[in-house]
Amino acid sequence: MAANRKPLERHRRIVIKIGSALLVDRKTGLKKSWLDAMCADIAALKAKGVEVLVVSSGAIALGRTVLNLPGGALKLEESQAAAAVGQIALARAWSESLSTDRIIAGQILLTLGDTEERRRYLNARATINQLLKLGSVPIINENDTVATTEIRYGDNDRLAARVATMVGADLLVLLSDIDGLYTAPPHLDPEARFLDTIAEITPEIEAMAGGAASELSRGGMRTKIDAGKIATTAGCAMIIASGKPEHPLQAIEAGARSSWFAPSGSPVTARKTWIAGQLLPAGSIAIDAGAEAALRSGKSLLPAGVRQVTGTFSRGDTIAILGAGREIARGLAGYDADEARQIAGKKSAEIAAILGYAGRTAMVHRDDMVMTAPAAARTGEEKNEKKGKLHA
Ligand code: GLU
Repeated sequence: MAANRKPLERHRRIVIKIGSALLVDRKTGLKKSWLDAMCADIAALKAKGVEVLVVSSGAIALGRTVLNLPGGALKLEESQAAAAVGQIALARAWSESLSTDRIIAGQILLTLGDTEERRRYLNARATINQLLKLGSVPIINENDTVATTEIRYGDNDRLAARVATMVGADLLVLLSDIDGLYTAPPHLDPEARFLDTIAEITPEIEAMAGGAASELSRGGMRTKIDAGKIATTAGCAMIIASGKPEHPLQAIEAGARSSWFAPSGSPVTARKTWIAGQLLPAGSIAIDAGAEAALRSGKSLLPAGVRQVTGTFSRGDTIAILGAGREIARGLAGYDADEARQIAGKKSAEIAAILGYAGRTAMVHRDDMVMTAPAAARTGEEKNEKKGKLHA
């Protein structure tokens, strides 16, 4: 049964993501009174027994103001320097502001590897859990000073979703200047309709967020929907709301416009949560409609249903599983990419002869796999293909 939206205070653990523009004014720097009001909202939630984590952007924006860097795009090394300067100021501001509510802040700076490598993931999770146990509020950001293009999250929406799944939060709140999801960009399309509740992130919902992530859409709706997929698959609900008013959490409680994404109905194990949220799959495997149907009914992926193997991965790496051109699942590879290519499309009984040893039967075992997208409404052509297979 689908979960229903409930008041913020009825959650156990909430991750709140705050966009740069809310915290930093390009000319005057930190928006202190906004931050103080935000901290008061956090204190009110904590007083009700809710554990709160903050993913705060703003290091680069604040640093560039302090350093008086010119407007326009920054070079990588400039934004790294800006982050180095800005992060100190940002963490200090949070710490001071929370301390007026008698709350202790702890700073955590994460790099991509800290959530994508299992050992480091478990380590980061343990530290954050310990901070929460001690009653403090973790203030989290990407470690922008060392992150380069290849090894960075790049946006705090997905980072916040990753953190939410890592700590088993039951709600992720994305605060920015956008008050929710619309059927089309509202500033471009007067017909755009606001969506109050999103029961499931279907391909149609994804289409509303616009095309693939790009430099321009960074931090826009695209990364928010990506965040929603990571969070909801792991059983964590998500809210997109405007952070513009002071006391934005109070405003949500008072009924301000916001979009709520329902958590997926089927809770998955912590291991599967980690698999599902991996941001950088090492490769991908495209499968046919018959195999997709098998996966959806809870079966493992067999080599026979594999059409194409892309990328270089080793056994045990996380790979994306694609059905009809889009990702439908994530899983741990049962074979190295080279072997996977050799046995793609082959019957399980043929594997030993091809590889020279009797491998496992599954390309991806069902225990190591999690569905990341609901079934799409199939086109007529695909339907026939599926039918043909079943009757073959
Ligand atoms: N980590 C960046 C910062 O603190 C922000 C990334 C984002 O806005 O999504 O400046």
